[in-house]
Amino acid sequence: MDIIINSLYSNKDIFLRELISNASDALDKIRFMALTDKEVLGEGDDTKLEIQIKLDKANKILSIRDRGIGMTKDDLIKNLGTIAKSGTSAFLEQMQKGGDLNLIGQFGVGFYSVYLVADYVEVVSKHNDDKQYIWESKADGAFAVSEDTENEPLGRGTEIRLHLKEEASEYLSEDKLKELVQKYSEFINFPIYLWTSKEVDVEVEADSEDEDEKTASTEDEESDEDAESKSKTKKVKETTWDWQLLNDVKAVWLRSPKEISDEDYANFFHSIAKDLTGDKPLSWTHFTAEGDVEFKAILYIPPKAPHDLYENYYSNKSFLKLYVRRVFISDEFDELLPKYLAFLKGIVDSDTLPLNVSREMLQAHNSLKTIKKKLIRKALDMIRRIADEDPDEADEKEEINDNEGEDENRGKYTRFWNEFGKSIKLGIIEDATNRNRLAKLLRFHSTKSGDKLASLDQYIARMKPDQKDIYYITGSSKEQLENSPFLEQLKKKGYEVIFFTDPVDEYLMQYLMDYEDKKFQNVSKEGLKLGKDSKLKELKESFKDLTKWWKELLASENVDSVKISNRLADTPGVVVTSKYGWSANMERIMKSQTL
Ligand code: ADP
Ligand code: MG
Repeated sequence: MDIIINSLYSNKDIFLRELISNASDALDKIRFMALTDKEVLGEGDDTKLEIQIKLDKANKILSIRDRGIGMTKDDLIKNLGTIAKSGTSAFLEQMQKGGDLNLIGQFGVGFYSVYLVADYVEVVSKHNDDKQYIWESKADGAFAVSEDTENEPLGRGTEIRLHLKEEASEYLSEDKLKELVQKYSEFINFPIYLWTSKEVDVEVEADSEDEDEKTASTEDEESDEDAESKSKTKKVKETTWDWQLLNDVKAVWLRSPKEISDEDYANFFHSIAKDLTGDKPLSWTHFTAEGDVEFKAILYIPPKAPHDLYENYYSNKSFLKLYVRRVFISDEFDELLPKYLAFLKGIVDSDTLPLNVSREMLQAHNSLKTIKKKLIRKALDMIRRIADEDPDEADEKEEINDNEGEDENRGKYTRFWNEFGKSIKLGIIEDATNRNRLAKLLRFHSTKSGDKLASLDQYIARMKPDQKDIYYITGSSKEQLENSPFLEQLKKKGYEVIFFTDPVDEYLMQYLMDYEDKKFQNVSKEGLKLGKDSKLKELKESFKDLTKWWKELLASENVDSVKISNRLADTPGVVVTSKYGWSANMERIMKSQTL
């Protein structure tokens, strides 16, 4: 006990989460039993599956009460009394090895965290199969269980009374408890109530005055009939007590998507993303994963990228909130999404993961890999859907019905691309498994795209019959590239060339080798083949001496070879990068990075 108390000391808050999670488990159990036997719920208040928190400030008692399954005398002894139960010793063993203290819940010893804040604990419990019992212990290794004849009968369930330590008086504040519940247990599946006081103005009757007298004194005779007994009142302050609901029981993700309005989704986004702008999220996906690993999730694309999304790319934390069976575990859990999708916000609620596990433990958990895989897939599907539903994305010929109702989706993908396009590119670099899926989401300008953005699928649809490769060129801006001599011949022959103008594009193209069996060819590099040219051989022969002379002359300038080529139209000569060398643009980028 000493080890538990001392080692968890810095994280006292967790006791409430542990108690609420136990209460919720007990409620889950009775609810499950009630599925087959409604009788077990009893009647009246006992049927209310809820959790109540109450403060007795004068006596420094914090009590948490549930109407769950309760504990029999044996249960109390077995579950709470036996400190030597296997979980405890396993936990202590881990602690001695310097394990993670937050593991406490995992070893089935979460209950003992009550001694972080209390020096005396009473547990009153009533199980359907037994009388009401009281368990009490002072954290000294001893406990007592006896039939409870003193306290009010509970009907069914458990009340845990913490006699708070002097140094734990912060938990005697309603605000503090509210804050903890909202932080850790907001989405517990059962209502959590706090017994709360409120100062209200109440109208009390002033000195008793005769009604008839008043009516008589009314000046306006016509309204006599309406002027009912308006007794003289005065306002006074009065303290009233009431149960205040602390959580939104209808956890959004547990409901069927059909029942959830767009507004609900937006509100939920704002609550979890702590986004105060009020802008609607760009899109969301809400789904249930079934099979070996079961979980529910809602993923959001925020309306805007955080300003430092790419500056702090590698240190950014993901924004997903991880729940295990409605119990909040962590929102800094990095292993649920790859870096390139860290801009997503949302929640994952898993039924498969163990409750209250530590970060280290979760990382090693196999289900986690499956969850991650499915989240990525769903996120990419969602992004794809934005593109599919955006009328601006369609090819001109597909754009038949241009009705105004689609306005909401119009230009949405461009908005997405402008905010998060770089993430897609980083994804192509980082995620080999989903490279092709991500490549489908790429957008760019090209020699044929005009003002619009084009996709690789559109490019392929526009390819010329004899064209084998996808042509692209890299540089610092579209304007600069449009006049590049490298494009002369290609434009003349009607081939489309992609403009890649973002510095990351150079890296991107080192990973994106092909798409739909078509290779990518940088037109400023060696290897561009523009069909057969019968004249080429002849020209090579007649300019042999000149090429040789050039080569010797430029040997000291890092020139590899000098060739006669058909890639130009009007410009007499051009410097081309060798196949595996850095493009001129890449050289420029590297240079700017070292400056
Ligand atoms: P865990 O919740 O991981 O089992 P705890 O130390 O938190 O470990 O609780 C120990 C056991 O005590 C629980 O498994 C449960 O059987 C019992 N228990 C604790 N709190 C309650 C409660 N409010 N109602 C019914 N049983 C409870
Ligand atoms: Mg527990």
